Amino acid sequence: MNDKLVHDADGEPPALEGALVLHSEPWDQTGTTTPAPTRAPTSRSARFRRQHFPQATAAEWDDWHWQLAHRVTTLEQLERILVLSDEERAMLQSGVDAFPVAITPYYLSLIDPLDPGQPLRRTVIPTSAEARIGAGELVDPLGEEHDSPVPGVVHRYPDRVLFLTTSYCSTYCRYCTRSRMVGQAHQDAMRRARWEKGIAYIRANPDIRDVLLSGGDPLTLSDDNLEWLLRELRTIPHLEMLRIGTKIPAVLPQRVTPALVKMLKRYHPLWMSVHFTHPDELTPETAKAVARLANAGIPLGSQTVLLKGVNDEVSVLKGLFQGLLKNRVRPYYLYQCDPIPGSAHFRTTVAKGLEMIEGLRGHTTGYAVPQYVIDAPEGGGKIPLLPDYHQGQDERGVVLRNFEGRIFHYPDMTGKITGLAVR
Ligand code: SF4
Repeated sequence: MNDKLVHDADGEPPALEGALVLHSEPWDQTGTTTPAPTRAPTSRSARFRRQHFPQATAAEWDDWHWQLAHRVTTLEQLERILVLSDEERAMLQSGVDAFPVAITPYYLSLIDPLDPGQPLRRTVIPTSAEARIGAGELVDPLGEEHDSPVPGVVHRYPDRVLFLTTSYCSTYCRYCTRSRMVGQAHQDAMRRARWEKGIAYIRANPDIRDVLLSGGDPLTLSDDNLEWLLRELRTIPHLEMLRIGTKIPAVLPQRVTPALVKMLKRYHPLWMSVHFTHPDELTPETAKAVARLANAGIPLGSQTVLLKGVNDEVSVLKGLFQGLLKNRVRPYYLYQCDPIPGSAHFRTTVAKGLEMIEGLRGHTTGYAVPQYVIDAPEGGGKIPLLPDYHQGQDERGVVLRNFEGRIFHYPDMTGKITGLAVR
């Protein structure tokens, strides 16, 4: 077989034939963000680069260090690129928001410059709604500090821990559960010493078999730092698996370099949970990044937060989850949005979440239906929710409702055995 036909410039197999990538201007022409699949490469980010970063070469744009060095973080920078709404400008001017703003140029290229209601724009540009603190909202809604035996480790479930590697992200999501610590530089002081304490805690607790590296975003660490951490963890005999939670393939796909995946695959079994929000994130750049990870044998699952006015429509979630499957990412969790301070404008009702699952289950491939969970406030852990398919019990057995609303009975083994089987 001709290698040129099956390997890209990095010597890797290409993204899956037919992998879903979305059209390059999700907000144009139709006035809707409904995904329109296409296999054509995008020119959007190239046009955006030429318009807003004319000094940058294509090679610089494709360099994750360049992307990080040119993150857009201020009102003045944003105003040069977007037409800001009064609500956005008011929040950016106020300076009351302790949670920083930062967006990679790449991710900004996906944002509609004119429409403040565009889904991706709502997730990264703050508005004055963030300053309104609602009932039940908490700085640490999941009670992680309470379950933290040493700084940077959250030990809630018996056999696994969350390891907070860094407070840094390339792009900050306005609904971030850890907005209390993410983006706060002081949280990263003495990082190596903190990691060593966390590793010592895991080493001393043989019941821990699974470590999830999170943050902040672990893939913003240098290859050397990340490898140091993975290597140290791999020396712990009772650790069966490692996981990384990241939003990098969606916000900074340039970070997924051949060197990174070559390093990561030395630490199998290594799984990855990738944070996706909306089908507009499924660009050719992202498809290439997740293909590299999948080709390195890393099982990929997605995590999505249900967000009001962003992705709380069945058609949007279906587009996202089917698109992820086509890119070999298995939709894993759909989260009810955590009640951080100033999150009311993002939080849907729980009934809306159930409606999303109802609209997916049975209506598309089962793999495309994630588990809908509420991470219970005050440390209750993830609690799965399902629509009421189980309708009770009657004399014929368990009463079940299918995806079409039709009723069926299953003869449950609760009654007496009334006869002997005849052979
Ligand atoms: S990438 Fe994750 S940790 Fe970072 S701001 Fe977004 S939700 Fe928070």
